[in-house]
Amino acid sequence: MVKEIQLRIKLKEEGDVSLLKIKAARVLRVELNDITGVKVLRKSIDARKPSIYFNYKVAVYIREKMPETSAYTFNYKDVSSAKEIHIIGFGPAGMYAALRCIELGFKPVVLERGKNVQDRRKDLKAINQDHFVNEDSNYCFGEGGAGTYSDGKLYTRSLKRGDVRRIFENLVYHGATEQILVDAHPHIGTNKLPKVVTNIRETILKYGGEIRFETRVIDFIIKANKIKAIRLLNDEELTVERVILATGHSARDIYYLLHKKEATLIAKSFAMGVRVEHPQHIIDSIQYHCETERDPKLPAASYSLVNQVKDRGVYSFCMCPGGFIVPAATANGEIVVNGMSPSKRNNPYANSGIVVEIDVNKDIPKYERFGALKGLEYQKALEKLAWTSGGRTQTAPAQRLTDFVEGKLSSSLNSTSYQPGLKSAPLHSLLPKLIGGKLRTGFKQFGIKMKGFYTSEANIVGVESRTSSPVTIPRNDNLEHPEIEGLFPCGEGGGYAGGIISAAMDGERCAEKACGV
Ligand SMILES: Cc1cc2nc3c(=O)[nH]c(=O)nc-3n(C[C@H](O)[C@H](O)[C@H](O)COP(=O)(O)OP(=O)(O)OC[C@H]3O[C@@H](n4cnc5c(N)ncnc54)[C@H](O)[C@@H]3O)c2cc1C
Repeated sequence: MVKEIQLRIKLKEEGDVSLLKIKAARVLRVELNDITGVKVLRKSIDARKPSIYFNYKVAVYIREKMPETSAYTFNYKDVSSAKEIHIIGFGPAGMYAALRCIELGFKPVVLERGKNVQDRRKDLKAINQDHFVNEDSNYCFGEGGAGTYSDGKLYTRSLKRGDVRRIFENLVYHGATEQILVDAHPHIGTNKLPKVVTNIRETILKYGGEIRFETRVIDFIIKANKIKAIRLLNDEELTVERVILATGHSARDIYYLLHKKEATLIAKSFAMGVRVEHPQHIIDSIQYHCETERDPKLPAASYSLVNQVKDRGVYSFCMCPGGFIVPAATANGEIVVNGMSPSKRNNPYANSGIVVEIDVNKDIPKYERFGALKGLEYQKALEKLAWTSGGRTQTAPAQRLTDFVEGKLSSSLNSTSYQPGLKSAPLHSLLPKLIGGKLRTGFKQFGIKMKGFYTSEANIVGVESRTSSPVTIPRNDNLEHPEIEGLFPCGEGGGYAGGIISAAMDGERCAEKACGV
């Protein structure tokens, strides 16, 4: 017999593996010896009150053998001489599209403008140390896409739990820890992601797929409303039949290309703001009600904040406990910040985007002339403003949180995890009122919700501009662009995903359609 139950474990009891069995026996009123195994299905922390608990959902095996953890298997086939599906972009959407093609017996041919994970590191170093952004290899572009040097948080609002579970199991198959299958808020960490991405590449190559790095697609040849070929930066032309376009939301040249070809694009609302960085111990003390260091059994604390400011959502985005703020620009002349953290989340800083919803059809009338690209142009303008006010390098404009809210230039800034450095700037007057005004109100309200959050010990850093795509590339029921047969807009760049897991799931869906399933 197997019974699923919930158990609450006190913080001081956490880590004692025999305890789950003892507690389960007590709850189920069975003899301890009759329990043959306890399998953890879900684990979360309840820190709402000063006495902290771990909530466990467990399957208890009573007088029945607990099955061994199944080795996850996927039905990959040799596709070396199978029909080709071209995939542009090797981020989560492109990677999972390629894996799904192999399962379905088609050969993925992946074209990725960036470098492999190892070579990409040198370009990240150049951004951080020399303030030079390689337009093909950076925090967004390269093997694994924007998902590689990220936090690797695996949260999704998707309700398709079976599909989510499939991606999680696939990540474990490719080297991620099994812990992601049980944690309520799973994450992999930027130090572990490159290995997972490398293993995915190896699977694709092993089964006969093809991956071409440093291969930027610059044009589509479309005839009679059908995609016929793609042109590469080196002038090579590839004949194609079905193309999955998984270029992410930072591939602005792809939006420009489609716009120039008069393919329908739709302006999409998105969110923009700043990144706020606190010392991690402040967030720990608020969330765990502790005055000194957090208990070593507890992970670096996180938060999720949301507020309505005059009918507009102001919310935290991509919170990275124990993490770093990173320069995520994809070109020189712009500043874009984002966050990542290592698997142990043991950096002394906590950072998060704090962003304001932008309604592209109401809020930016001056940009109307750009049509479907109005949100993109507004995003670009803000990134350029951040670059100018940061000193025309990757040094980012920043302000103490309280100075920003009170409208004062900071005479000094707090220390930061952001490697290219910060420059004090009057973000309160530089940011458009639409964003700056709502952020100032929002921060004060967050300070009421989380006592200690609103502090001069926190910096805000500009700008957090790439939360999601400012453009939708439309698609029909077969997931093809309605005017370009054979072109499957996919993942975050198409406007169909908002993170690693949703992008991966969309990659699988597009592959199924491209393969005719
Ligand atoms: C620093 C950072 C931290 C993040 N942290 C998290 C997190 O913790 N959790 C989470 O869920 N999400 C996170 N994200 C967001 C997440 O990475 C994206 O949602 C996800 O990667 C989108 O997947 P995608 O495959 O659709 O696009 P992308 O990952 O953007 O991949 C697109 C790929 O296409 C390639 N490409 C673009 N143009 C061309 C072209 N013309 N020719 C050939 N190739 C091209 C790019 O080089 C890139 O590799 C983070 C993002 C960043 C930047």
